[in-house]
Amino acid sequence: MCSHSQSPDVSDIFVCTRCGFCCQGETTVSLNEQDQTRMLECLGLTREEVERRFWRITGSEVQMQVRDGHCIFYEPNLGCTVHEGRPWRCRQWPLHPSILSDESNFLSISESCPGLKTAMGYAAFCRILQNILDSTKPPDQGA
Ligand code: SF4
Ligand code: SF4
Repeated sequence: MCSHSQSPDVSDIFVCTRCGFCCQGETTVSLNEQDQTRMLECLGLTREEVERRFWRITGSEVQMQVRDGHCIFYEPNLGCTVHEGRPWRCRQWPLHPSILSDESNFLSISESCPGLKTAMGYAAFCRILQNILDSTKPPDQGA
């Protein structure tokens, strides 16, 4: 299993290529209460306006709207246009803790994200990721 190494640096295992793959699809991640508050503050708009223009609300579930097969905040030449206010699940991607417990998660996430530096192999990748996760505060995941 993974063990500690020194001086963790995200760029050792991941550099986003801004390919936009993770912002594609007909659904988006869900926003918890903290995500909603952060996004409202980032956009500087009223909740009513953000709900109308940017969110898709299904019962108690809040997602971002989809336009042309991608998240409404994704701009092909710019990437995420709500970067500072993006949900925690977007912040966490692609360095998901599940990578540590199962190599198949590492392989499937690697296939989805070209920014992962996989050439070093699973064990070495895990050592660095574990160190990074240990040295950073848990995301404000909420429920
Ligand atoms: S899939 Fe990976 S490399 Fe592509 S935009 Fe998302 S995080 Fe960046
Ligand atoms: S909020 Fe930003 S990072 Fe998250 S899916 Fe939308 S465009 Fe992508």
